[in-house]
Amino acid sequence: MTTLPRFEIHQPASIREASEMLVHYGDDAAIYAGGTELLLAMKHRALAYGHLIDLKVVPGVNAIETRDGTIEIGAACTHRSIERSALVREKQPVLAELESQVANVRVRATGTLGGNLCFAEPHSDPATLLLVLGATVGVESAAAGLAAGVASREIPVEKLIAGAYANHLAPGEILTRIIVPSAKPNHRAAYMKFQVHERPTLGLGLWLETSDAGRTFTAARVAVGCVCPFPSRAPAAGELLTGARAEVEKRLPEAAALIADGADLADDHEGSAEYKRHLIGVFLRRTFAKAVAGDSL
Ligand SMILES: Cc1cc2nc3c(=O)[nH]c(=O)nc-3n(C[C@H](O)[C@H](O)[C@H](O)COP(=O)(O)OP(=O)(O)OC[C@H]3O[C@@H](n4cnc5c(N)ncnc54)[C@H](O)[C@@H]3O)c2cc1C
Repeated sequence: MTTLPRFEIHQPASIREASEMLVHYGDDAAIYAGGTELLLAMKHRALAYGHLIDLKVVPGVNAIETRDGTIEIGAACTHRSIERSALVREKQPVLAELESQVANVRVRATGTLGGNLCFAEPHSDPATLLLVLGATVGVESAAAGLAAGVASREIPVEKLIAGAYANHLAPGEILTRIIVPSAKPNHRAAYMKFQVHERPTLGLGLWLETSDAGRTFTAARVAVGCVCPFPSRAPAAGELLTGARAEVEKRLPEAAALIADGADLADDHEGSAEYKRHLIGVFLRRTFAKAVAGDSL
């Protein structure tokens, strides 16, 4: 039986203290949120740390609040708490719906949205949708030379993910919140995935803005995930998805081809690149129909 190697767990009282611990222990330390990825990777000796910094006990990172037309989700909020949040269900129902379909209820009750984004496992759901919703993340650290408090910056989700299992956080930086614009009455959004194994084979997110209750689309954003090392937005495909609905429907195959061209499709255990290209076509059609029907939660 594979056992977990020994490690020390630290419970900081603030983000500043957590960041200082990360810097102090360097490569031998990691943030510990739900542990659903981290502990598994440590058990299988894919990662090794002597010090885990428990984020969940830090005040302020478990809250979900609204502010200036956005929802601010603390990085340590579990998938389950987001799925069940009345605020998320009201303000951005498509996100609550996505969260209800992540993994299984045991993983959702422990795994966090922040951990999901930072780990950047290619076969993950949330980042693909967050890209099209225009979400950003708040990052904080006890920067050198700062006598008190924390240095903070806000970056788009696409600037957080650097590649498969890689993020752009600097040493000592911690993801503290995810900021998601609230839905407006003239927005339509949907996320759909295709899954036969434990993790999704494909995820497709679509966001549309309409000027006349869904007959014309004035703006569109589309992204695909899981079929490529990290979620990929396709701005040129988005442009094809604007205009009169009947015209947009005709252009869906062309838009799907652009999405596939822009994603780094590869042959792997989930299927060939050609198969994934086909799935993108099927799921763009389905996701468009779902977004237009507006049947999220
Ligand atoms: C059986 C199974 C099925 C799954 N199916 C799906 C699925 O269908 N769709 C999907 O999207 N995901 C799926 N997942 C992934 C799951 O969503 C993630 O495991 C979970 O969200 C990770 O969060 P965590 O809090 O457990 O992260 P942890 O394991 O605690 O951390 C993961 C990594 O991120 C770092 N980290 C965590 N939080 C922060 C932070 N705030 N700032 C900086 N670094 C941080 C940690 O140091 C670590 O390197 C599945 C997982 C399992 C085990």
